[in-house]
Amino acid sequence: MNPTPSAPLATAPAGPEAPPPAAAPHLQDAAQVAAHWGVHPGQGLDHDEAVARLQRHGPNQLPTGRSRTWVARLLAPFRDVMIGVLMAAAVISGLIGDLTDTLVILTIVLLNAAISVVQEWQAEQALSALQRLATAQAMVRRDGRAQPVPAEALVPGDVVLLEAGNLVPADLRLHEVAQLRVDESALTGESVTVAKHPDPLPDPGRVDHPVGDRHNMAWKGTLVTHGRAEGLVVATGGGTQLGQVARLLEQGGPDRGTPLQRRLAAFGQRLSGVVVAICLGVFALGWARGEPLLPMALTAISLAVAAIPEALPAVVTVLLALGARRLVQQRALVRHLPAVETLGSVTTICSDKTGTLTQNRMVVHQAVPVAPQDLEVLQTAALLCNDATPDAAGAPHAWQGDPTETALAQWALAGLAQDGGQGVNLAVRQTEARLAEWPFDASRKRMSTLHPGLGLLCKGAPESLLPRCRTDARGAALDAQAWLARAQALAGQGLRVLALAQRPGATPADAAADAEADTVEQDLSLLGLVGLIDPPRPEAAAAVAECLAAGIRPVMITGDHPQTALAIARQLGLHAPPSGADAAGRWPPVLTGADLADMDNATLSEAVAVVSVYARTDPAQKIRLVQALQARGEFTAMTGDGVNDAPALQAADIGVAMGRGGTDVARQAAGLVLLDDHFATIVAAVREGRRIFDNIRKFIRYAMTGNSAEIWVLLAGPLLGLPIALLPLHILWINLVTDGLPGLALATEPAERGVMRRPPRPPEESVFAHGLWQHTLWVGLLMAVLCLGLQAWAMQDGTRPWQTMVFTTLTLAQMAHLLAIRSEHTPLWRLGWRSNPPLLAAVALSVVLQGATVYLPVLQPVFHTQALSALELGLCLGASAVVVAAVEVEKAWRRRGGRAGHSGPAAQAARRHSQASSSQ
Ligand code: ATP
Repeated sequence: MNPTPSAPLATAPAGPEAPPPAAAPHLQDAAQVAAHWGVHPGQGLDHDEAVARLQRHGPNQLPTGRSRTWVARLLAPFRDVMIGVLMAAAVISGLIGDLTDTLVILTIVLLNAAISVVQEWQAEQALSALQRLATAQAMVRRDGRAQPVPAEALVPGDVVLLEAGNLVPADLRLHEVAQLRVDESALTGESVTVAKHPDPLPDPGRVDHPVGDRHNMAWKGTLVTHGRAEGLVVATGGGTQLGQVARLLEQGGPDRGTPLQRRLAAFGQRLSGVVVAICLGVFALGWARGEPLLPMALTAISLAVAAIPEALPAVVTVLLALGARRLVQQRALVRHLPAVETLGSVTTICSDKTGTLTQNRMVVHQAVPVAPQDLEVLQTAALLCNDATPDAAGAPHAWQGDPTETALAQWALAGLAQDGGQGVNLAVRQTEARLAEWPFDASRKRMSTLHPGLGLLCKGAPESLLPRCRTDARGAALDAQAWLARAQALAGQGLRVLALAQRPGATPADAAADAEADTVEQDLSLLGLVGLIDPPRPEAAAAVAECLAAGIRPVMITGDHPQTALAIARQLGLHAPPSGADAAGRWPPVLTGADLADMDNATLSEAVAVVSVYARTDPAQKIRLVQALQARGEFTAMTGDGVNDAPALQAADIGVAMGRGGTDVARQAAGLVLLDDHFATIVAAVREGRRIFDNIRKFIRYAMTGNSAEIWVLLAGPLLGLPIALLPLHILWINLVTDGLPGLALATEPAERGVMRRPPRPPEESVFAHGLWQHTLWVGLLMAVLCLGLQAWAMQDGTRPWQTMVFTTLTLAQMAHLLAIRSEHTPLWRLGWRSNPPLLAAVALSVVLQGATVYLPVLQPVFHTQALSALELGLCLGASAVVVAAVEVEKAWRRRGGRAGHSGPAAQAARRHSQASSSQ
């Protein structure tokens, strides 16, 4: 790997945009390309020119697949076989008999279809809003200053600044390259990273250089894994290489839905068979009782349409997508919908320290030069071996870049009050301009730069740097042990410690001849240590406590020093081994990357059950830790921000990337992006995930119980010798008013009390667990018994409108049920009426609509209803109240059972679950 000296570009005259170049940019000199696009690379485009070019060239977006037309959307519900059969049967029966009935049935079916189209549209909108939020930013130079712009707004001629971790935002002709390596596998399939340079390629003759060999270009969609570079945009959007590769645009194939959706769809298919069989039974029973053939067939088909839960996967999408939208308000962006579903199952959250648990607002707290007179050279090194840049547009002291580096730069310029506040002059960046560099990387834990007068400057973690020092700045042999002890003492105070060193004699010739960082960074003289404060985030300690209460173990995995890590862990309360962990005494409170490297998998498996702080790890070890936790049955969320974190993010059950400080590479690999980088946001997302999953279960509980009630009524009635209680249009109407709005309003149901005081849900646990199935059957049966009881009572009299009573009771009982199941545990009267206004409004609307079908004279002939007397209506309401009471009894029973079942801390319960699942 050769360090390529920075290659400043010849000045290019800014001018009007020229026609596309005759020669391809990789064959031209970079200055020619810049001149061609009318831009000076040191200045970039100006704002107005960028706006004008954006209009001319269009946004930097890949062409997307055609979205479905409205007609296709509208017709989609009618592709369902049962709906087709129903409509055909309705038409036939209309031709033979009652045309009004047919029209009403068709209207209801259309309304139902309209609702499902709207639901689907709503879900798509929520998802595309999420996608828009997820679009990448690119760092460009415009108006002479580096600034982030949305990648979609890039135009040809823009100067893009690349660094490790970036996703290349457009096709670029590189003009300045420092150690750049790019993973081009997305484009070429080649998994080995490619080194880049700024020089023009030789004339290729008749066959042009293959895309993968154009080493002075960086292609849209590829990933920068190492180094830094600047390049000029030469193609955007569909004009890029990626845009031209049609194969890639069709990537992904049809969306198969989230695991839960797939399971529900499979379940729905199985259930459809059962429902169709039951409907045949209903038909046969009715026929045997002497009901006329065609109306009976229509009844059976309507029941099938109403009771087959074909809408479940779609409604789950809506609930997930709406949940994802709420997560954005809580600063967590979901990149893959399944993450919403599984968030609630997380048992372990492995988090970085810097920036996630701490504020990443670094300030130099202490400097330890070799001798007081070396302070100035220590500061100079801190300013030069540093990629932070002064913010030209911002306040005079504002700096851009990595917080560690900006803190070092600010200290270098201003000094510390206790040292007399002396700093060095920024002009040294000109007099000692950088000749070459070996960028920071989290595995080496150090970086170096080469300068004409000062030679090689190197800064990094003390353990990484001190073994490479032979002398100190005074020329004396280095006492590495003493300096390591000094570094340790600073780290023990929670400071982040960096060592700085110099190799004065190093020249560009050394660097070119001996290019590997490891060989260049030798024979150094130590300049001193610098300790930076990075205080914990104020909300992190509360979030850690919330995790522990929720049976989730927070684990810190950091590249920082073990003492620093432990000091911060103590402040946050996550240093102690989990309560109840075996063999806690065997393990120290913190393990280092070196300790991990010495462990075999069996030992590691024991260690991860106990130790919650890991320091000086390198990114590759994160994968081992995730795998060890997973092998113990833990469901693991893992945060990451760097390029090398991507594999661990992918290996984790939920990869969590940083939206602010993180790299595009990490974001690509993650399921969840934290828009504010806070640890507390992960915990909030878990809480939200649990709420969403609870609400999905509530929807299933509600919808399936209603269906089961309808089936019981139509099946049991004839068996008890009663006439069929409902007309087909009644069944379809009940389905319409109950399944539409009220069910969806469950999406806004607030979290259950104590949602974060119960253990995580095992991810593979059936959505029907904890008695949901039984509930569906017995509450449905109860509703049917109440309906049929009223039917029998009303029929005894002979004059009472028994059909209207059953019709009304079934609707009201479902509404009452919905109110009662808003919580799985808390009694209805303690839930409060104001906690879910949309649900109350939806219930009220359904009740009013039902009332209209019964009491409005114009609707009575349409729905074949009669006005109910006060007594009759009272009985219908009373039956609904019985349903509420029964559900409350069930809740009380569950509360008693729940207390017995979850005795002891939630964390222990979670651990029991995980041990059980790992031994399976
Ligand atoms: P976390 O993994 O929790 O984010 P971290 O930021 O400390 O922690 P890394 O960024 O991998 O982890 O840094 C590891 C070590 O490398 C640091 O403790 C520090 O000693 C050193 N280091 C960090 N940033 C730089 C830098 N810009 N230049 C030189 N050395 C650095």
